[in-house]
Amino acid sequence: QVRVRFAPSPTGYLHVGGLRTALYNYLFARKNKGKFILRIEDTDRNRYVEGAVENLISALKWAGLEYDEGPDIGGPFGPYMQSQRLDIYQKYAQELISQGKAYYCFCSAERLEALREEQQKQKLPQAKYDKHCLYLSKSEIEANLEKGIPKVIRLNVEPNQKIEFDDIIREHLEFDSNNVDDQVLIKSDGYPTYHLANVVDDHLMQITHVIRGEEWLSSTPKHVLLYDAFGWERPVFAHLPLLLNPDRSKLSKRQGDVAVEDYRDKGYLKEALINFVALLGWNAGDDKEFYYIDELIEKFSLERVNKAGAVFDLQKLNWLNAEHLRKKSDDEILSLLKKELNNSEYKDQPVPDEKLVLIIQAMKERVTFVKEFINNCRYFYEAPREYEQKSIEKNWKEDTPQQLLKLKEEFSNLTNPSKEDFEHALNRVAEELNIGKGKLIHPLRLAVSGQSTGPGMFDLLFILGKDEVIKRIEAAIN
Ligand code: GLU
Repeated sequence: QVRVRFAPSPTGYLHVGGLRTALYNYLFARKNKGKFILRIEDTDRNRYVEGAVENLISALKWAGLEYDEGPDIGGPFGPYMQSQRLDIYQKYAQELISQGKAYYCFCSAERLEALREEQQKQKLPQAKYDKHCLYLSKSEIEANLEKGIPKVIRLNVEPNQKIEFDDIIREHLEFDSNNVDDQVLIKSDGYPTYHLANVVDDHLMQITHVIRGEEWLSSTPKHVLLYDAFGWERPVFAHLPLLLNPDRSKLSKRQGDVAVEDYRDKGYLKEALINFVALLGWNAGDDKEFYYIDELIEKFSLERVNKAGAVFDLQKLNWLNAEHLRKKSDDEILSLLKKELNNSEYKDQPVPDEKLVLIIQAMKERVTFVKEFINNCRYFYEAPREYEQKSIEKNWKEDTPQQLLKLKEEFSNLTNPSKEDFEHALNRVAEELNIGKGKLIHPLRLAVSGQSTGPGMFDLLFILGKDEVIKRIEAAIN
């Protein structure tokens, strides 16, 4: 059975790259009828952020990526928080020590620093521990432990070995063990490092496929060494391409939002964000871009994930948001709009559902975000506070007030006017005054909405209703 995991370190928010990793794991699990696990990798105590785990979980839930096992719901392989598994890591580190595959290191920070400086002077490609403590005698080690000298546990990496592994996306990879440091497994505070905890947990949690960002690729040789040292079967690896800014630099906060929470708060639909993120490095082999999650599950495969970095194109996200919004039913949009209205300045002025549905129908093709059903057409909720200057200059002529007055009178005679009734009334006035309809429509739009563009004129009049239209014409011509 396929078992995959999303294993974030709680940094305070869910990065969009993290969302992509979580999504691909989720899609892969669902497609293969496997399990999707959330594991929190919180063993770096210096990076502890209050509330970070809760944020992560709520962002995942918002996105709809439900996991089968995780810290808040438990499961057969828990606990799913690494900080609650410390004795497990100790036990496995000790196992490696007893087999000579790992060793205690008592070197002081000063010695390590001096070593680093020395190696820098020699222009070694990267700093490496010199295995000094590997050669301590048993009695020296015991004495040091007795004295309580601060210590770490390091993996004993054998030199001159080829480290090979396969990756579904990157194919076959080879590394030279001479370039791999005797990495720390247990830190001096007794906490495991990422490498040890990650490998031990992936093994104990019976993870079959490790699907994660390319930034972890350089850690994989170390992990492979650990699997081999324990004599454990390796999972299948799949490293997802980097996310890039439009200028092809690595996606960064400086060039835009990177937190899923930011997109949520800006009003992006989860369907659109999921659809967008799914396409960051994957496609089904055709030009299709619009997907719901069910179809993604059906089509997804790791073999179709690209090697090349994926550019984060905000315009495409906006386009997808508009598409997903348009495809929703009026009722669905209605409930989203009502939520939005409740957070707006119009919250104390309830608008009947029937009217909101009309607004939705009139504006649906013109908006990208739900909140634009308010912000782009405030005239549906309140009389214009001001009139667009450019349109005044262009459309408001000397005889406009006279003409609008006539229009107002014609409208006053209507009872319960439909859209067509408004239209016919306007046609009659245009004919009577012997002017083109445009001469009436542009100033009328300006008078009732304060703007020069918007939905169809007669939709607008119908939605506002006769009394409001008359009031607004009066206000504009006086
Ligand atoms: N804790 C790592 C992270 O924050 C997990 C990497 C992995 O999936 O192995 O992304």
